Amino acid sequence: MQELERERVDAVSEKQGKVGSRIMVFVRLRPMNMKEKEAGSRCCVRVVNRRDVYLTEFANENDYLRLNRLRGRHFTFDAAFPDSASQQEVYSTSTSELVEAVLQGRNGSVFCYGATGAGKTYTMLGTVENPGVMVLAIKDLFSKIRQRSIDGNHVVHLSYLEVYNETVRDLLSPGRPLVLREDKQGIVAAGLTQYRAYSTDEVMALLQQGNQNRTTEPTRANETSSRSHAILQVVVEYRVSDASMNIINRVGKLSLIDLAGSERALATDQRTLRSLEGANINRSLLALSSCINALVEGKKHIPYRNSKLTQLLKDSLGGTCNTVMIANISPSNLSFGETQNTVHWADRAKEIRLKVIDANEDQLPVPEIETDQAKLVLELQKEN
Ligand code: ADP
Ligand code: MG
Repeated sequence: MQELERERVDAVSEKQGKVGSRIMVFVRLRPMNMKEKEAGSRCCVRVVNRRDVYLTEFANENDYLRLNRLRGRHFTFDAAFPDSASQQEVYSTSTSELVEAVLQGRNGSVFCYGATGAGKTYTMLGTVENPGVMVLAIKDLFSKIRQRSIDGNHVVHLSYLEVYNETVRDLLSPGRPLVLREDKQGIVAAGLTQYRAYSTDEVMALLQQGNQNRTTEPTRANETSSRSHAILQVVVEYRVSDASMNIINRVGKLSLIDLAGSERALATDQRTLRSLEGANINRSLLALSSCINALVEGKKHIPYRNSKLTQLLKDSLGGTCNTVMIANISPSNLSFGETQNTVHWADRAKEIRLKVIDANEDQLPVPEIETDQAKLVLELQKEN
């Protein structure tokens, strides 16, 4: 147990200081489920030292007995979570630093990537007993805000939206599809609900309700579509005064994204991607792969405009953003092909380098009494 804890701490300290220099990439292995066990599945993934992933392909029982050691292809990530990892551990290692950055007026985003059933929604949303990254991030955000400001100077807004078949919908207020518009802050979904959040308690229920509004497959009424992307946006706004007592308005945005199942869009090179475009494949996921390829190759032009998802995530992928990818995988040899593709994709995503610039801020006119916090709070409240 102590050994495990030490490994975890090593993995965390190893990655410290790297946020912002490139995408942080994590892999999370989920436990084998009943269906897989009943089908006689074998485990084809090993997670070692909280950062190494070994994949072993085997064709039959003999192969399994022969190869069931630390063999197979080896990959190393910023951290790799075994099937025993808790939701809290996944949150603390992958996302808590981003929450800190958002409180300093920066943008951050966390993507869950992987095949349908690999554990993306569990990682992001989780359950009431075991809440996932979305809920733990908001909980942590409120607790950090409470620690640093007793004057209520921070305003937190939540939006929860879905991209399905190139249509954007508001998951907090379902209705007509939303239109994307470009304004001075970038691409925004016109009319999207901005829910003012005051505490964590209300958030889990709100997100679960939102998840119920996700598009379902017509043939499987209770299952959310494997082709739907869900994006939770958490915007934190606050005011600070600089050395010359100018009041600065700071905005940090955290985007938490539960991507569509990756099984139909596994290409990692441009040519295969192009040949897939014509097929009936999730355009947004392909466009995301294209953007990631372009970022990896250091291209000047990044094709954000190719899909709704990439337009919405423009400020969450390149430039000023701290980005985290969590690749979710199943341990079963029955999913070996998908697991291998997901791990390759994650391995490639490690190459993306980001340039993080200073916090997002606007200078505001100096109020009459600069230091009067109460007056600032009133102004903020009036605006909302
Ligand atoms: P996805 O969103 O990738 O399609 P889900 O998150 O819905 O997959 O996971 C599929 C099933 O596996 C769900 O019933 C979920 O509760 C379970 N599951 C996934 N990951 C874990 C985990 N780490 N621990 C326990 N159960 C998990
Ligand atoms: Mg899901």
